[in-house]
Amino acid sequence: MRRTQRQPRVRRVADGFGRSGIGRGRPAAGGGSRTQRPGREHRRAGVVTAPRKVLLPSPRSFCAGVERAIDIVEALLTRYGPPVYVRNQIVHNAFMVRDLEARGAIFVSELDEVPADARIVFSAHGVAPAVEREAERRGLDAIDATCPLVTKVHNEARRAANAEDTVVLIGHEGHEEVVGTMGVAPERTVLVERAADVATLVVRDPDRLTYLSQTTLAVAEVEEIIAALRRRFPKIKGPGSDDVCYATTNRQAAVAAVLEESDLVLVIGSVNSSNSNRLMEMARDAGTESHLIDYASEIEPEWLRDKGTIAVTAGASAPPVLVDEVVTAIASYGPIEVEERSVAEEHLEFLLPVRLR
Ligand code: SF4
Repeated sequence: MRRTQRQPRVRRVADGFGRSGIGRGRPAAGGGSRTQRPGREHRRAGVVTAPRKVLLPSPRSFCAGVERAIDIVEALLTRYGPPVYVRNQIVHNAFMVRDLEARGAIFVSELDEVPADARIVFSAHGVAPAVEREAERRGLDAIDATCPLVTKVHNEARRAANAEDTVVLIGHEGHEEVVGTMGVAPERTVLVERAADVATLVVRDPDRLTYLSQTTLAVAEVEEIIAALRRRFPKIKGPGSDDVCYATTNRQAAVAAVLEESDLVLVIGSVNSSNSNRLMEMARDAGTESHLIDYASEIEPEWLRDKGTIAVTAGASAPPVLVDEVVTAIASYGPIEVEERSVAEEHLEFLLPVRLR
C-alpha cells in the first residue's frame, strides 16, 4: 500500500466535475474551480441568492477494495453473462447495487437462495470461513471479492487464535465485516464496540490478548478504545499495522481539513456504509451540520439556507458521479465556486483474482 500524506491545499482546474462516467471512475484528478449558475426555478423561488463555496475534500469516493469488488462482478457478467449471484451487497451503496442489478447481478442474503452449481461472489466485506465451506459443500463456483485489507485482518485473527490468544475485535455488532472476522475464530473472539465496554470485558486470560479492528471505523474512536484496552490489559498485542484502512483514514483526514471553514458537510453514502456514517459523525461531533445522502435529490433546500461554505464528500463505496450530481444540484440553488482540497493521493490498486485477469 502506498500512502502519500500531504498538507491540505487548494487546487483549481478548468474542467473539474461532470466528466466521470456513469457510476465508475476515480474522483476527478484535479478537482475543480468553476462557477455554476442557479436553476431558473430556484432563482424564481428565491431560495438562496448568495454565492457559495463548495469544497471537495480529497480523497473521497471509491477506494481500491470497492473498485476491485465491482470490477469482479462486471468481469463475471461480461465473461459468463447474467445472472451472477452476489452474497449481500457487493459494496454498501444503493446506487451501485441498483446499477449492477440492472446488468444482471442478483443479490442474496444466504447461500440457500442460490441454485446448485451457480456462480456466487462474496462481497468486499468478507465472509466467515463457514460460509466458504458451505459454498464448497453445495458445489457453488465461489469468487472472493473480499477486500485484501479485510483479508489481512482475517489472517491476523487466525494467527492470534492459533497462538491461543483471545482476539478482542473493535467493531460494530452485526456489520458484515465484523460478522466475517468474528467467524474466523468464533470461540476465541470477543467484540468491543466502545471504550466504555472495556471495563466489563470478560476474557479467558488477560495476558493472552490481541486486539484487531474493523477497517472502516473512526480513527479517533479506535485509538480511544485501544488506549482503554492497554490500560486494563497492559500485555495486549496489536496488529503489525493499523487495521483501520488507508481509505477510511484518508477520507476522515480530508473532511477534518475542511471542517473549520464549512457550514455544512454533505456526505454521499448509503445508510449501511460504515465509513460514510463515520464522516457524517465527525462533522456533527465538531458541531457542523451534516447529512448522509444517497442521491442529490435528497438535498433539502432548508439545509442550504445561509450556508456560505459547503463541503461535499463521499464514502469509499459511493461512485464519483454522485458527487458531480450533488455539486450540480447545489448550483441549482445559487451561484457556486468549487474548490478541491486534497490531503493525500491514492494510487493503490488491487489485482483481480487470477481467473479474471
Ligand atoms: S474501505 Fe478500506 S477495507 Fe473497505 S473495501 Fe475500501 S480499502 Fe478495503
